Amino acid sequence: MARVYNFSAGPAVLPEEVLKEAAEEMLDYRGTGMSVMEMSHRSKAYETIIKEAEADLRELMNIPDNYKVLFLQGGASQQFAMIPMNLMKNRVADYIVTGQWAKKAYQEACLYGKANKIASSEDQTFSYIPDCSDLPVSEDADYVYICENNTIYGTKFKTLPNTKGKTLVADVSSCFLSEPVDVTKYGVIYGGVQKNIGPAGVVIVIIREDLITEDVLPGTPTMLQYKIHADNDSLYNTPPAYGIYICGKVFKWIRKQGGLEAMKAYNEKKAAILYDFLDQSKLFRGTVRKEDRSLMNVPFVTGNEELDAKFVKEAKAAGFENLKGHRSVGGMRASIYNAMPMEGVEKLVEFMKKFEEENA
Ligand SMILES: *Cc1c(COP(=O)(O)O)cnc(C)c1O
Repeated sequence: MARVYNFSAGPAVLPEEVLKEAAEEMLDYRGTGMSVMEMSHRSKAYETIIKEAEADLRELMNIPDNYKVLFLQGGASQQFAMIPMNLMKNRVADYIVTGQWAKKAYQEACLYGKANKIASSEDQTFSYIPDCSDLPVSEDADYVYICENNTIYGTKFKTLPNTKGKTLVADVSSCFLSEPVDVTKYGVIYGGVQKNIGPAGVVIVIIREDLITEDVLPGTPTMLQYKIHADNDSLYNTPPAYGIYICGKVFKWIRKQGGLEAMKAYNEKKAAILYDFLDQSKLFRGTVRKEDRSLMNVPFVTGNEELDAKFVKEAKAAGFENLKGHRSVGGMRASIYNAMPMEGVEKLVEFMKKFEEENA
């Protein structure tokens, strides 16, 4: 068995330690005689799993008591609808469109009320984060929405927008737990876990309690009401039980690495290896404005489509998987989430150097 270096944007690499532990517990979870997959979500053993997962996440992110943590289904995309359905009391919301995921969220919100695009970086293929220090935030906006790390384009908000007192809602799918966050700056933080935390099928929503009300848009399905899930501690119906169990293991793994400060330091060092190489390369170049570069997703090109394709093919043969850029941008993208070891990026850069020499 040989594991590859997997640079997939998602579902993505998980810590090997976590996978091994899950494998060991597959047939008999700690003396229960069954797999977590086969276990009632109302059992004592499972109650411990989900409670510990929440407690570890709270500890990692320093989540204040007046925020609920919800483990839901439907992926990040389901939140594109759930957010307006639950939060659009005035039926007005402002969106900052910095990529395809933000755009999809904006388009979805248009189905429910007046969604305003108050800033965008689409004019330059989303290769930068617009200045959000003084935006025309709507008087009656229920919230201001951002996608904090743009998975496809490789940009990240380094400072949060000035929402002029309005509630900030952030999709953090691809930067979840990659660095410390000040939860109190947000009304809602949410993300699909398949980028940086666990298997697809779980979305985590961290939401301030005063935003959880019965006053939702008419016709909002029961399953799409935050209050239902909050009142039932994410166990209103069967949750994505196995996925949450793996998330819990990843939380413990991150704690063991030293928490989010340590994760940030590791991620910065790791990303710098790749960015420093790109900045001096005669063949490859990064596609994003330097000050907006993501630590998690690193898009790059040679400037020649055939050469890009050749690179992706040869990289794959050498054990570097999923380096092809998103179909909407082309080129290459290396997603280097928490679980990508430093060594993976070092070896990738060695390979890129060799490719550069051979194709100069
Ligand atoms: C992947 C991704 C999504 C979509 O996630 P799904 O779980 O497939 O719905 C949304 N937002 C961001 C930032 C993503 O990276």
